[in-house]
Amino acid sequence: MIITRPRDWSRIIENLESIGARRVFLMGCGQCATVAHTGGEPELRETAERLGEAGYEVTGWTVGEVTCHLNGTKLERRKHQEAIDAADAVLVLACGAGVQTTADAIAKPVFPGLESLFLGTVIRNGVFEERCQTCGDCVLDKTAGICPVTTCPKGLLNGPCGGMWNGMCEVLTDRECTHVRIRKRLAEQGRTGKGTLAPKDFSTALKPGAVNIRDRKDER
Ligand code: SF4
Ligand code: SF4
Repeated sequence: MIITRPRDWSRIIENLESIGARRVFLMGCGQCATVAHTGGEPELRETAERLGEAGYEVTGWTVGEVTCHLNGTKLERRKHQEAIDAADAVLVLACGAGVQTTADAIAKPVFPGLESLFLGTVIRNGVFEERCQTCGDCVLDKTAGICPVTTCPKGLLNGPCGGMWNGMCEVLTDRECTHVRIRKRLAEQGRTGKGTLAPKDFSTALKPGAVNIRDRKDER
């Protein structure tokens, strides 16, 4: 899931003031931002209260089922058209994709209410770790399901680096070195080793990514 954190409040206010907005509609997200406790119902209620205290009128709010789904967000717009029409701006408590989808669906100034941090795993409620940089050329088949691109602070494919000490990472000293973990897990599974991974083909990570399963010719 996409891990987010609340954006600095001063930046949100600065954004609203930049267009002289007094009335605001809030959009959350029922998926990642809800799980991350950044853009679900409690966070929207809290934001609405905070905006009210700061002198803004909140015309309405909704937690879209999947805010980065264009048709779903257009449906939310239709359901809340009156409240959106009454607003000067929309503040979105969702990841950057959710903000952009909202900006495509609603013809009003749209501002981000969160910072998008990474694609990660929920370790337990409220604890998240980065696990994937969407490189488009996955090596997890060779690395026992541990991503060296993301979980090694140096992104080394064929570590460990010279700083590894007693199996621990030299950068994140409380963590076992990614490459030690990879070797251990491969051995536990009776796998001989991953061999040397070829340099990454970064052309697979060209931006903007796009996939169209209706017309495979458009895929990149
Ligand atoms: S190798 Fe690439 S696609 Fe696979 S988990 Fe790591 S960053 Fe993600
Ligand atoms: S000690 Fe291991 S995980 Fe840490 S930076 Fe070096 S290779 Fe990467």
